[in-house]
Order: sequence, then structure tokens, then C-alpha cells
Amino acid sequence: MTGRPEQLFPLFAGLETLPGVGPKTAKLLANLAIAAPRDLLFTLPSSGVDRAPVASVQDAALPGVVTVPVTIGRHIPPMQRGRPYRIEVEDAKTTFQVVYFRGAAELHQRLLPTGQRRILSGKAELYDGIAQMPHPDHVLSEGEALPAYEPVYPLTAGITAKVMAKAVAGALSRVPPLAEWIDPNLMAERGWPTFAQALQEAHHPLAAADLSPASMARQRLAYDELFAHQLTLALARTTERSRPGQVTEGSGRLRRKVLAVLPFQPTGAQQRSVDEIADDMARPRRMNRLLQGDVGSGKTLVALMALLTAVEAGGQGVLMAPTEILARQHAEGLRPLADAAGVVLELLTGRDKGREREAKLSALANGDIHILVGTHAVFQRDVTFADLRLAVIDEQHRFGVRQRMLLGEKNAATDVLVMTATPIPRSLALTQYGDMDLSVLDEKPPGRTPVQTATVPVSRMDDVIAKLRAAVAEGRQAYWVCPLVEESEVIDATSAEERFRSLRAALGDGAVGLVHGQMAPADKDAAMAAFVAGRTSVLVATTVIEVGVNVPNASIMVIERADTFGLAQLHQLRGRVGRGAAASTCLLMYKAPLGDTAEARLRILRESEDGFRISEEDLALRGAGDVIGTAQSGLPRFRVADLERQAALMATAQTDARALLAADPDLSSPRGQAARLVLWLMEQDRALRLLRVG
Ligand code: ADP
Ligand code: MG
Repeated sequence: MTGRPEQLFPLFAGLETLPGVGPKTAKLLANLAIAAPRDLLFTLPSSGVDRAPVASVQDAALPGVVTVPVTIGRHIPPMQRGRPYRIEVEDAKTTFQVVYFRGAAELHQRLLPTGQRRILSGKAELYDGIAQMPHPDHVLSEGEALPAYEPVYPLTAGITAKVMAKAVAGALSRVPPLAEWIDPNLMAERGWPTFAQALQEAHHPLAAADLSPASMARQRLAYDELFAHQLTLALARTTERSRPGQVTEGSGRLRRKVLAVLPFQPTGAQQRSVDEIADDMARPRRMNRLLQGDVGSGKTLVALMALLTAVEAGGQGVLMAPTEILARQHAEGLRPLADAAGVVLELLTGRDKGREREAKLSALANGDIHILVGTHAVFQRDVTFADLRLAVIDEQHRFGVRQRMLLGEKNAATDVLVMTATPIPRSLALTQYGDMDLSVLDEKPPGRTPVQTATVPVSRMDDVIAKLRAAVAEGRQAYWVCPLVEESEVIDATSAEERFRSLRAALGDGAVGLVHGQMAPADKDAAMAAFVAGRTSVLVATTVIEVGVNVPNASIMVIERADTFGLAQLHQLRGRVGRGAAASTCLLMYKAPLGDTAEARLRILRESEDGFRISEEDLALRGAGDVIGTAQSGLPRFRVADLERQAALMATAQTDARALLAADPDLSSPRGQAARLVLWLMEQDRALRLLRVG
């Protein structure tokens, strides 16, 4: 199959081919992201109006929409210009008035002739104690009927409800009977309607419950979207997996040496992840795996074990961090362990220049360096490896797909392990990383004391500084994170510098250090080093410290204007403390009054330290796109599926899509052919391309 199936042509024809849609309407519909009849099908009503008839306006809650049979009484034309035209009507119990502020008298007389029976439907209200219905939405003759429940669509200027309803009806009439792509067992188990039936039901709700994401019709349509998306990811994964990889099987010799010198035992979750990764590396195809774990869950050890596996097999590994500080810290933390195993580990960053850099590069090309740690400098063109087996990318949401691609240029068979520190809800992980295999560190190393989290208004700054002075006197160390007031690093840096000066004035010059993104790299290093060594007690910082720095003695985290940060970010920042044995404190300073959302965010942080729970709450508060940042996330926009409320469907869709492809890799079986239809319907171009070349 090379092109779109003919069956689907009418759904992808121009909008003007629909009844009631001309070029002008078509252009306006584009404002609702509707470009073809297909898009109308997946634009579902956002609410509904109950038009079930009642005997009298007295039986309805006013103001509200009422549908009521009446006998038309006398017409009362306005006495003066600018006054409304009124018509008395009588229902089963009372008399009320229809009111027109516009329109010619003849029109009103033709529509509502005195003495006749009509059914009126529209919004009625009380005016001076008397019910009135201005401009009824519908006037029907007796015997005519309205649907008892009228769907209400999202509209845009120039598109009326009537135009929309007609266009949707036109699109619905073009839905051909299509072969079923959903697993028959799943269909039976859920009791879902067919695709065509689901569209009919979703567009013809009978009651408010039919608009809920829990309704059968909406579940099915959401599933269709998610299934098509997961099928695309599964196809990408299969393609990825069919690429030749390298069998990297370690002896365990180096890993055992490192475990022997570690002062602790790996957690169950670490051990499980290490095994999953080793199994994957041993397979003759390319690994593409995500290691997800909360701050402090011990990802670094897992990464090291994987890197050592590559070295045991006679190859090399690289660990890439998003910032200079982090790369340096990884290198420093890992070097003693590498030494213990007799493994050569080097650091390469943008700061390596001249002869030193050349020496590193040639050692790397010779295979004399076994593990390279660095920033994205490790992927520059002139960096060549003797035998690169594994790349670990400490992503922390700063690298994207592009960096992963760059890797392919170094060695197309290199196994890839991406580490992400921000736990993201399962539904989003599946959405964003569904083409990858997943290892999860869902268990924290033992022996941590929970962080006490408190909120304080900024007006109590003096108290906070006084407490800080007392804590510093006891030998404690603190981070002080400055607010993200502007979208500009320069301005954030200025506010950090101001806070640095005021804290130095309060605590003594030698006690306070400063790091921010605008500083010269050497100055940043010096400030970090002074803090790590305990020469400074307080480190004033912008969010550059968010990612990964590890100073176990630091037990206080002050976050100024916490109300301006995102939940995930606050969680990350707080994760910088609570790493040692001492009880830790996190002070979230906010500017009063707090908005509802900001208050909810700070409350969640006070209540929980579980990154996965926090991320779920974050999703509920913000919506899918925002959690990762839509622009960089590459998250698809779903029209029907609601990731917050239908998260479980995403997992089912992934299982189902992978199972289908395992049984029918080129989608040639009858169900596979049907699945191609849903890929076309959902405009999964990437999948269709993969199928074409495959
Ligand atoms: P992450 O990168 O996942 O935030 P790290 O790898 O930096 O976490 O580990 C955080 C701290 O926990 C480090 O000091 C590390 O040495 C320690 N750690 C890691 N694994 C364990 C374990 N199994 N038991 C005790 N401490 C551990
Ligand atoms: Mg880390």
C-alpha cells in the first residue's frame, strides 16, 4: 500500500465538499484546526444542552434553557423605538413572554401566529418576576421534535452552532464501514462500539454522561488515537531493533570489583535495572532504553555498571551530562570507583583545549581511555572512539532526540541508555518514550531522613535570615535559590548577585558563595568547590544547581519565590538536600497572596517527597503539554484522548500495538490491514513512511 486507501478519500476531501460549507466557512474552520472532514469527526462536543420538553416554564430552573409547548397569544409591538417586541404565550400552567430586540414585525407574526400551537426552545429568565424568553433558539410546530439533548461544539468567530452541526453531520455521513483494528478480545472485554458507531454516539449524546471521557464511545475513540500513536512508536522501535547492533556481554569482573569497594548494597530496583540493561546489551541489536528514577534514586551507579559492562567486553563507554558542573561531578564521583576496578576514566568538556585535548582524543581513539565523561563536547566531530559500545545520556530533559541522533554518527550500533531524573507520569512516559524500553528505579536507597518542607511568605525574610545564621553557626550548609523572575538569565543573575550581597552582609563575607549561569566557568567551579569543601556555608544560586549536584553536608534549601517555579522543578531543587544523615529542611518562600494553583503546588510538596506522585499531581494541575514543556517535548496533541483521565488506556494501547507488530511485523494480516487504516485516519505519517520503506 503506497497511498491513502480509497475508502478514506471522502474524509480527506476539501471541507467545501460538505453541505453548508463554502470557502469562507472552510477558512474559518481552520481556526479550530479543522482542515478536512476527518478533523470534524474528531472534534467532539464540549458540552450539551438539555432540550427535553417540560409542561411549563414553572417546571424549569431559571435562568436556563427550556423547551415548552405553548399557545401563542397577543403580539405587543413596541410603543417607542428601541423598545423590544413582545409576544404573550401560554403554557400548561402560566403565561410568559417571548421577546425580540431585533427583526421585523412581519417575521415575528409569521413565526408565531396568534392562536396557534408551537414548541419553543431557548434560554428563559425571570424579568420583574415574570418569565421571558428572548430570541428562542428553536420554534417548532406541534408534532416536530428536537433531539432531547443537543451537542454543543467548540466554535470560533463566524462559525455558528448550526453551521458546525451541519458540517459535522455531513462528515459523519461519509464514514464508511471499516474493518476493525482493535484486538477482538479487548473489544469484547470493554464492550466498545465499532469505530463508526462510536462516532455516531459521541456526536449524538443523549445526556451529560455521554460527554464524559468515561463513556464507551469516547473511550473507544481515545483508544483509536492512542493506539495509532503507539503503533507508530512500536514501528519505530521495531525498525530500531532490526538495525544490527553489537553483542556486548561482560564477564562481571569489573562490576564485582566496584561492588566490593562500595560502602552500600545496590537496592533491588538498581539490581533489576542493571540486569535489564546487561541483558539488553548482550542482544545482537541496538539498545534504546530509558532509565527513569527520582532524584537520589541512584541512577549513577546503574549507569556505571552499564559502562563497566561495555569495558568488560573490550569496548568503551561514554557518559554525557547536560552541564559542565554535572559532568565534572560525575567524573569526580566515578573516578575512585573506576580506579578501584583499574578502568581509565577521563573528562572531556568544552574547556579542554590545545595539547591536552589532543592527548585525550588520541587516547580515546587508541582505546586507552575506557570511559569518557563529558558534556555534549563528547559528540563533536573530531572525537573518535576505538570501540564505542554504550552511550549513557543523563538527559534531565535538556537533551532531545537530536542529540540521540548525533550518536548514530559515531557508531550506528552503539547501545543507548537515556537517564531522566524527573519522574514523569506513566502515561506521558509512554507517550514520549514509547519507542524505548524502560527501566524504572522506583525505590530509594535506605537511610535517608525525610526533608521537612515548610512554606514562608517573603515578608518574613528577616526571620529566615536569622534562622539561617543560627544554622550556619552550627556548621550546617544551605543552598539559597533565587527566583526565576524573568525569562532572562542576565536578569536572574542580577537578582542572585543582589541576594549574594545582602546575605554576605548578614552572615559574613567568607560564608557565602555564588553560582549562576552568567559567571565565567572557572569562577563557577571555584564557587562550587568552596561549597563542596565546606569553606562556604551558603551557596546562592540560580537554577543551575537544579541538575544533580551532590553535597551531602548541605541540609537546608531555601527557594525564594517558590510560587514562580514549576512543581517538577521544585521537587528537583529540594532533592539537593536530604542526601546526608542529618535532618534537612526546605523553605519555600512565596509572595502573598498565593493563587489557587500555586497554593496547590506548594501543598503537594509539603505532603509528599515521592517524585512519581508529585508528577501525577502536576499533570492533574497543569495538563499534559506543560509537564514536559510542549515545545521541546514533541508530545503529540490528541483531539479526543485525555492523558490525565485516560492514562490507563495508553498502557493498554502500547501493549496491544507491540503485540500486533510482534505477530504481524509488516501489517499484512487482516487486522494488520485494518491497523493501517487507523494510521491513515490518525495521520501517522511517520509510521506510514516506515511501513513504506520496510
Ligand atoms: P540520582 O542520580 O538518581 O539522583 P545518585 O546516583 O546521584 O542519584 O545517588 C544519590 C546518592 O545515593 C549518592 O550519594 C549515591 O552514592 C547514593 N547511593 C546510590 N545507591 C545507593 C544504595 N544502593 N544505597 C545507599 N546509597 C546509595
Ligand atoms: Mg544523578
